[in-house]
Amino acid sequence: MTVLVLGGTSEARAVAQLLHQRGESFVSSLAGRVADPRLPVGPVRVGGFGGVEGLRAFLRSKKITAVVDATHPFAEQITRHAFWAAQCEAVRYLRLERPGWSESAGAERWHWVEDHTAAARLAAHLGARPMLTIGRRHLDHFVEPLREHAVLARVVDRPETTIPPSWRVLASRGPYSVDGERAIMAEHGADVVVTKDSGGSYTRPKLDVADELGIAVVVVRRTPPPWTDSDAVAILADPTAVLEHLARPWAVE
Ligand code: NAP
Repeated sequence: MTVLVLGGTSEARAVAQLLHQRGESFVSSLAGRVADPRLPVGPVRVGGFGGVEGLRAFLRSKKITAVVDATHPFAEQITRHAFWAAQCEAVRYLRLERPGWSESAGAERWHWVEDHTAAARLAAHLGARPMLTIGRRHLDHFVEPLREHAVLARVVDRPETTIPPSWRVLASRGPYSVDGERAIMAEHGADVVVTKDSGGSYTRPKLDVADELGIAVVVVRRTPPPWTDSDAVAILADPTAVLEHLARPWAVE
């Protein structure tokens, strides 16, 4: 078995750790988006594959027998590519995806929207001092609707987008604590938080603090996956379950 772990998440690093401990053959893959990535143990390759065809060629050349797609729930393109490339090459595909926050308790002040454009419009209406935690790639959707607002935009690496004078950019990386989030939100005077439905515990504390403060939260929904129910894709919620699943026999149907 040689496993390709598509990463860029804490879950992917945990899968690499487990594969390494069990002496399995594997390689992790990162997109190369952030300047100083947290690296998993074991072999790592960095950079895009060159679309579905490039990924297919990689699967063939490295004799990959299973793809563990542990990418972020909002890394939709690589998930689409990985699923199709694995299908075409008759390689096993497993999705490791942390559950979203849709079942959260105390979420009566949460507003669910379909995309970043809707999130920007709604945030402009709901508050004067929004805190944006949607990453840097989609910040440009927020610039016009929130140009006159006092925005705190938290990102891992500084954005290329031209930032309005009333905005402040905070470059930092999770995991975040409840106390830390409380301090940041109090210091900014945040009256609305904008987030993606990333799920998991790393970025959850801002939502707990928002609930505590009684302020609104705008949540961008996940988009549907590229597969249908009939594809019978194994969707697993934690790294140990991935290892258990890989240990089971698999045959192309
Ligand atoms: P994306 O939009 O789904 O993918 C864009 C392109 O980046 C892909 O077509 C692929 O290029 C390349 N790529 C993405 N992930 C890759 C990986 N793990 N290994 C090799 N190539 C990869 O991805 P994204 O949203 O920019 O996310 C990039 C990475 O950051 C992902 O690995 C993801 O897990 C991590 N991340 C994303 C978010 C988020 O909010 N989107 C948050 C935290 C971490 P080619 O077509 O050339 O193969």
